[in-house]
Amino acid sequence: MNRLLDRFDHFLIDLDGVVYLGDQPTPCAAETFTALNDAGKRRLFITNDPRRTADGYATKLARLGIPADPAEFLTSGRAAALYVQREGKTGRPIFVVGSDGLRSEIEAVGGSVLRGSDGMTAEIVVVGGHEHFSYQELKIATLAIQRGAAFIATNRDANFPMPDGLWPGTGPIVAAIEVATGITPVVVGKPEKLIFEIALDLFPPGGRCAIVGDRLDSDILGGQRAGLATILVLSGCTTAAMVERGPIQPDYVIENFSRLTTPLS
Ligand SMILES: [Mg+2]
Repeated sequence: MNRLLDRFDHFLIDLDGVVYLGDQPTPCAAETFTALNDAGKRRLFITNDPRRTADGYATKLARLGIPADPAEFLTSGRAAALYVQREGKTGRPIFVVGSDGLRSEIEAVGGSVLRGSDGMTAEIVVVGGHEHFSYQELKIATLAIQRGAAFIATNRDANFPMPDGLWPGTGPIVAAIEVATGITPVVVGKPEKLIFEIALDLFPPGGRCAIVGDRLDSDILGGQRAGLATILVLSGCTTAAMVERGPIQPDYVIENFSRLTTPLS
């Protein structure tokens, strides 16, 4: 049987738009993961959303009938924490503009997180979108960066889909700090290469790796920059017409995630 899944050893899998839409799994998602497991494929879930921790995502997938280990999730928040660790800087004082989930990812790699106005003395500022963003956080981050703190953004996503429309993502918050300081951050999440480098380090070396995602300007562009095979699903925010129009061309376009397991024509 000539199936797309047989062409690769490892899969980086985006979550929203691929595995689920909001709280609904995409068609046959659980069965597709069973087929991937049966074929001995390795997987890592990769998402730009820094609000939840890996544990939170594992719980969400379990609820959708997809058992997963927290170690199989690389959020842009965890990737930012692993980046700080890789740079040997977890001992430096860190201010986090973001959710408790992002703070706990930083603390999980041994990062020392400053709270409140102590954050002005931070040597590193890590920024991820969250619903309680405030002027106070903006001010503390701005002052710390003015005083020389490194500026790290989990991602630059402009928005994310919610039932009543597109809610502002991390990008607008990063932009506010950028405008206030005149400093450009190091960006970790898709489509930047850092999150892919960190992800590939979590697989055994040498396998054939593909990314499965629903966004051309994030999953597919990032996968191409990282030299991976790219598989676009049409179950999320991209339509076939957008692929035809766009300059970014994935290697494969499939209707939804379950098509990994059906024979190629
Ligand atoms: Mg997505």
